[in-house]
Amino acid sequence: MNRSTPRLEIFADRIRDNARAIVTQCAKHGVQVAAVTKVLHAHPVLLQALEDTGITMLADSRLQNLRQIAECGTSLPTMLLRAPGRHDIDDTVQLADISLNSSLTTMTALSEAAVRAGTRHGVIVMVDVGDLREGVWPDHLVDVVSSAAALPGIDVKGVGTNLACYGGVQPSVENMTRLVQLRDMARAATGLELGLISGGNSANLPLMMSGAMPSEINNLRIGEAIILGRNTLDRSPWPQTRQDTVEVVAEIIELERKPSIPLGRTGEDAFGQHVTFTDRGIRLRAICNLGRQDVNPSDLAPVDPGNIVLGASSDHLIVDMTDSSESVEIGTEVRFWPTYAGLLATATSSAVWKAAATPHRL
Ligand SMILES: *Cc1c(COP(=O)(O)O)cnc(C)c1O
Repeated sequence: MNRSTPRLEIFADRIRDNARAIVTQCAKHGVQVAAVTKVLHAHPVLLQALEDTGITMLADSRLQNLRQIAECGTSLPTMLLRAPGRHDIDDTVQLADISLNSSLTTMTALSEAAVRAGTRHGVIVMVDVGDLREGVWPDHLVDVVSSAAALPGIDVKGVGTNLACYGGVQPSVENMTRLVQLRDMARAATGLELGLISGGNSANLPLMMSGAMPSEINNLRIGEAIILGRNTLDRSPWPQTRQDTVEVVAEIIELERKPSIPLGRTGEDAFGQHVTFTDRGIRLRAICNLGRQDVNPSDLAPVDPGNIVLGASSDHLIVDMTDSSESVEIGTEVRFWPTYAGLLATATSSAVWKAAATPHRL
């Protein structure tokens, strides 16, 4: 394993246990799990962790990640979570068994590509039940589904929706029931089975667990609850999962006692911000080899509760280590828990090493 810093350590066994726990919870409610890999850039360590967990699909928003999934080899069907761009149509048909779509223009292009490739492509027609991100407006759904169903090489598998991402609208009995009713309307109008109803993402789990999610919803696309073990409505720990699944590791490249307030007249920092400082007196300050190029410092929580992340410029992360529980010196590794945004940033940064790791604490 490459021990260089900065690096992301992935505790595969913990992610595997999280996936199994969530698959079991979902199975009790008749829901199959499409595991979403984008927040870890579809890293091979994640893909391996997800094997034999009972998930039924691998899903990602990027073709680059789906290509990685294909290269690693999987027996599971794959799903593209974001409608493809014009120049990505052929790759979509090649790399994804199913894609989430709302535009007939795109589905027509997918149809032509599927015919060219001599294959078939599945689509889930997305409908917007209120979050104002992707999805046809409900009164267009029947039209779009019937037109898509007439396209050669296209199988309309069902309908789906996404909530809690842009507008922050929470999944509810009302919007989930609406999704089922819309599927039933489209089914009646077209005679298609439309057997797959993909009700949403990790934010749907609380409604599902309460027993209030309509039983027709039979698929959820789950990323954060598996990978970070969090209820995405409030980021609280999700039952039967662990949160200590990944760590960001940097090392100390300078260690000095300095005042906590800058000396001299202050203006904007390197990022155009006016920073305010808390006077804690003279403190032991570490510079770690991580910066805003890799991650926003507010998306890192020190594993050692004595440490305080003070801020960062492009390549220097400043951490108050006065109350650190371990003795520190140049070269000491400092560990952080990333938020979802912090994990997305570090996982997709080519400047951060990634490695499977064995936790040094249990
Ligand atoms: C990212 C994404 C998901 C997974 O969201 P989580 O909150 O990580 O569970 C599901 N569906 C779509 C369309 C997505 O883009």
